[in-house]
Amino acid sequence: MDEQNKPGENAQSNVISLDSRRKERKKKEAEQTAEFPPETLHTPHAENLEAIPAKLTWLYCPVCDTLEYTELVMEGGRMHKCGTVVQEQVIDIDVRAEATLALANLERAKIMQAYLDKTRAAFEEYLNRLTLMAGSVPSPYPLTPDVMKHLAVAEIDPFGMMVPEVLHEPRRRFPKPDKEK
Ligand SMILES: [Zn+2]
Repeated sequence: MDEQNKPGENAQSNVISLDSRRKERKKKEAEQTAEFPPETLHTPHAENLEAIPAKLTWLYCPVCDTLEYTELVMEGGRMHKCGTVVQEQVIDIDVRAEATLALANLERAKIMQAYLDKTRAAFEEYLNRLTLMAGSVPSPYPLTPDVMKHLAVAEIDPFGMMVPEVLHEPRRRFPKPDKEK
């Protein structure tokens, strides 16, 4: 990359390196999203990995038709706020196993959140540019099946986002740089 930083070419090479870095990051994110990051599955510093037995109780109020769970074990039953004695189902759990699921899902949710924040920002920017082109916010076509057929969508990403053909892999529109041949 350094050999590109000649006087007068700085701006151009900056834009190109930014674009490729963004692409690399996007690829890395897609890979992370596709599977759990390895560090959430292997905890190298955990020496004691025995099961932690506990009880989780599901509570059902047949009058209000509401469900909730509690970690509190209570002998002799308990009453819902409506005055009805709730039905209880006690489940034996391994707290460590459940925590493993919770932590892995939180890690995954964090990755998804970052992706969604970035996607939202990207499409707000796109709408902003389109608004500049049109002079005002363009009213969208109604999303009927017939209209959908005529929208240029390159792909539906794993989150259900419709990636516009116009924005999809812009690099393919240009000849490859000499060094990649
Ligand atoms: Zn109730």
